[in-house]
Amino acid sequence: LDTASNIVSKAFTHLETSRGFVPRPSQLQLSLLIDDLIENGQGGVFEAPTGVGKSLAVLIAALAQAGHSGKRTVIATYTNVLAEQYWNKEVPTARELFEGIFQSPPSVRLLMGRQRYCCVAQVGEIDPKLRTDLLTQGRIGNENEFKKISGSRRIPWGRAAVPVVCSARLCPDYSNCFYYSARRRAAKAQVVITNHSVVVQDALMKQADLSEGLLGDYDYLILDEAHDFHLAAANGLEFELNASKLQTFTQIGLQLGGMLRGTAEAVGLGELWKHAVLTFEERAQTFQREFQSLGLRLSRPGIVASSPESLAENPVIQLNRADITSEDVENFGVLVEDCCNGLRAATDLVLQKGADLPGASIEPVRESIRNYRNYLDEFAGSIRSLLVPSGVSVTHAGKLSSGAKIRLDTISLAEPLNRILWSQVPTAFVSATIAVDRTFDFFRSSVGCKTEFEEILEAPFDYREQATLYLPRAGAIPDPSAARQSGNEYGYYLAIARELDRIIGVCGGRTLALFHSRKEMEAVAALVTRRPEHPIFMQGAQGVSDVGEQFKNNVKACLFGLRSFWTGFDAPGETLSCIAIVRIPFEVPVEPSQIARSVYLTSQGVNPFAAYTLPLAKMLVRQGAGRLIRSVHDRGVIAILDSRIHSKRYGPEFLENLPEGLRSYDDIEEAAGAVGLLEPTPTLFG
Ligand code: SF4
Repeated sequence: LDTASNIVSKAFTHLETSRGFVPRPSQLQLSLLIDDLIENGQGGVFEAPTGVGKSLAVLIAALAQAGHSGKRTVIATYTNVLAEQYWNKEVPTARELFEGIFQSPPSVRLLMGRQRYCCVAQVGEIDPKLRTDLLTQGRIGNENEFKKISGSRRIPWGRAAVPVVCSARLCPDYSNCFYYSARRRAAKAQVVITNHSVVVQDALMKQADLSEGLLGDYDYLILDEAHDFHLAAANGLEFELNASKLQTFTQIGLQLGGMLRGTAEAVGLGELWKHAVLTFEERAQTFQREFQSLGLRLSRPGIVASSPESLAENPVIQLNRADITSEDVENFGVLVEDCCNGLRAATDLVLQKGADLPGASIEPVRESIRNYRNYLDEFAGSIRSLLVPSGVSVTHAGKLSSGAKIRLDTISLAEPLNRILWSQVPTAFVSATIAVDRTFDFFRSSVGCKTEFEEILEAPFDYREQATLYLPRAGAIPDPSAARQSGNEYGYYLAIARELDRIIGVCGGRTLALFHSRKEMEAVAALVTRRPEHPIFMQGAQGVSDVGEQFKNNVKACLFGLRSFWTGFDAPGETLSCIAIVRIPFEVPVEPSQIARSVYLTSQGVNPFAAYTLPLAKMLVRQGAGRLIRSVHDRGVIAILDSRIHSKRYGPEFLENLPEGLRSYDDIEEAAGAVGLLEPTPTLFG
């Protein structure tokens, strides 16, 4: 009998015979390592640099184990773009590689979050013809497909997307439903491709025992783009109460009222049910009014409650308190909870009685109602967590254009993630850039995971040949912090603009400038010389994907971007020949959750700058620099314009985190010339 590692090797032997194959030893190494970890149920963390071909490596290992030992693996990415790339590109390739190895290849399915799918029933109400087109032409029913199929009909995605809760089995389109079909198939598949948010949601559902979850039981989890998992986890664990959430909550309660009316009448509880729904509606109106008045009373946004108790007593937390009290929020929370409880109790009573209905099939109703009931339960639970934060977390109040928002943020992810994930399923973390100072300590502490194995795989690119580093001379650009403190921000912006002018001129456009703040980006953009031959696209004026595409399609253009372009942006080829990191992206604790984190770390005897701010900035700089070389043919310059690289003790540490072997210059012409970026100067006689 073949071992799983033999199967992986056989798949790679097939890969070698495929067209355009490029041998990448790290790819096989990664696949074998992950295969081994799945087999032994162990965790691992891997840095697999761009170009290694990590997605295919991961998929081959998961498929080999599925076919060999029957282990179910979930592979999750942070971005939907990468998940769809797995599905559209890597899965078909991997399936071919296993032809002849397994009699029937292991099943693979894609499952995204519910609001990534279009709701056939809703679309049918808006445009019945489009519903038919979707059912005949749609394959997965996601937003991209919907846009293509709906063409010029211009139906906003918000109206077409699957709603927060729906009647599921009672929906006439249930059997056609893209989302529920994807869920059913995913629950049975041996390998599931999904995103981080679905993994977190599935784990939370299983933990709360609200349902069987979204993914079914699985044996192994692989988190690709693992460096961003903390964002998805924080998002899944946060809860924000605002006017639109309250409205959705009210609508869902009323929908439940309509759905269960018939059953309630059939079991002789029509009056009771009517009263329960009316009471719900009245209470919902009361708390919506209360929430509005809470918003009007809030003139100083800030922290309302925090956990652990020692955090709440800290003077910095006290200084950042909102001018509404936790009692204000508590009174309001009690109203919402009462509202939930009344309807939940009446629902249970109707369903209980409904079980006795002669010959009536209560099961589909029960199942559909369960979705609504779960929603009310979750809502009530989240309201409780707002009032009494637990673990290390903070509740804070802020203002939105539509009124107030009250939000709970989890500060330390370690305990909740351990409880819902790491103690439940062995996990491999994979990313192109995840190590800081060549260790995984920062990553591990940010998500609280322990792993048995770790490896930094070799990059397939030759950075000595392909890239150079440009650092303007010390003193050429003012220190950004000092400039702000002394009120000389204009001088700083001007120096950056002049530097970018030179870079753009020398590199012939082809520059991606990465900024840390919108204010800084706009101030610099206003001072940079505009050249018609090198247009500058800027994030903000248009959406992220639009400016990204325009930049890629215009080889001589430049792009000024914020956080979205530091990671995950892929522009191979000449169009991106210089990455200019304008400023080291140190997080300044201004948001209540950032302040609370800083206070919490200090209270634990940890220096927040050394333990969090600095390594986070190093990782971001690594990721930003990583946008430059995306293939063996790419050439270019990494420019770091932050003068603190020269003046601060931590400066050299950032350089040590860049790819090894970069040749460093303090003259942009030399840096660009060394990688062949300078266009030959035209001479009179050719
Ligand atoms: S089952 Fe729900 S999501 Fe699916 S089509 Fe019906 S209403 Fe829409």
